[in-house]
Amino acid sequence: MSAIRTPNERSCTRCGRHEEWNEEEGTWTVVDEEVGDVYCIHAWDITGQFTPVEQ
Ligand SMILES: [Zn+2]
Repeated sequence: MSAIRTPNERSCTRCGRHEEWNEEEGTWTVVDEEVGDVYCIHAWDITGQFTPVEQ
């Protein structure tokens, strides 16, 4: 068994947007002004952490 880890950081594999989870605000906030493309359909790179088993 492995503990489920809540990600606190994520980045988009398409436009490079970089976000960090702000616990106080309860929202994702942009890191280092890397906002990426506002028209991008963001593909966050954290998906793998939620589904470690691929079949
Ligand atoms: Zn994006």
